[in-house]
Amino acid sequence: MNIKELTLDRESLAAAIASEDSTFERELRDLAYRTKVETIGPEVYLRGLIEISNICVKNCLYCGIRRDIRCSRYELSEEEVLATAQIAAMRRFGSIVIQGGERTDQAFISKITRLIRAIKNIEPAVEGDPPLGITLSLGEQKKEVYEEWFDAGAHRYLLRIESTNPDLFHRIHPNDPLHSYDRRLRALYVLKETGFQAGTGAMIGMPFQTAEDMADDLLFYKEFDAPMIGMGPYNPHPETPLTLQGAPYPSAERRFALGLKMIALLRLLMPDINIAAATALEVLDPRGREKGILSGANVFMPNITPVNQMVKYNLYDRKTLLGDGALSFNPETGIIIGYGQWGDSKHAVK
Ligand code: SAH
Ligand code: SF4
Repeated sequence: MNIKELTLDRESLAAAIASEDSTFERELRDLAYRTKVETIGPEVYLRGLIEISNICVKNCLYCGIRRDIRCSRYELSEEEVLATAQIAAMRRFGSIVIQGGERTDQAFISKITRLIRAIKNIEPAVEGDPPLGITLSLGEQKKEVYEEWFDAGAHRYLLRIESTNPDLFHRIHPNDPLHSYDRRLRALYVLKETGFQAGTGAMIGMPFQTAEDMADDLLFYKEFDAPMIGMGPYNPHPETPLTLQGAPYPSAERRFALGLKMIALLRLLMPDINIAAATALEVLDPRGREKGILSGANVFMPNITPVNQMVKYNLYDRKTLLGDGALSFNPETGIIIGYGQWGDSKHAVK
């Protein structure tokens, strides 16, 4: 495929995704990176990632912390989350993400509300910096819960649609009302109505997933007018039903190339949004997220979860991430870190 032939309609996107021409892929990534720098500048925004708990009421067929997997469960205490957020403030990360398994019990909901308020009261390290921005990624919740968390001070929420092909969605989730495509889609619109900057995304390179499915994912992000996207390669976990079924999926090398390519195509499609360089890239390549940024991503999420618990948040095997909070880029890349700011996308600010 030739980069000059790329038109960003469904057919052309699918052809670009299916192409294994490495010259095309490199040209595409370079074009996307230039587009990113020209549209939103050289900066990369930080989100300190706090994985609050691996307890989950759901049973997604691909996930290593699904309800029915036997593993050691943990939940960070309020003190631990606050101390971790304090580190993010001290290091001027500007924002944090609180992510975890889905829980809908009242104790958990109230704990999150208290935490949001307390984090908002952390003194910034430098006078003039805003209080930490808070992104939540805690799954599907009732409208009242989203409202409570928004009113407490969180302002961004990440809920991946996982796949915009309802058939594929239902092949990778159990067949019950808790795991419904329509319910997840509705939750996304409710988040938007509530006032959140609602981000979404999908996994890339899953069993049964076609190039057209991935093209449709990109077109959905545009239609939903998402201010931020977090999408990343599917990484099989050895004990999940999806892996044990034995359905084929692309090689690690292909999934990595696809992950970068999806970032690049999305940057061309939506030049001024925030695109995260997903953690799942780092598992496939020791500089995976840096390469994500050089393909057009502009958000980097150093994992600052206390390491003794981080090892238990095994969505998939990710031992490479220990000590991730150290945060380093190859100086030759020219990547500039946007310290001490929320880093909302230009798209959202508009
Ligand atoms: N429970 C919340 C947030 C935590 S899971 C939720 O599901 O929304 C965060 C993301 O991890 C999910 O959205 C999913 O896309 C991703 N994930 C889970 N298992 C994965 C796997 N095996 N490979 C790649 N990503 C995975
Ligand atoms: Fe739970 Fe999220 Fe994993 Fe699904 S993907 S099982 S909701 S943690």
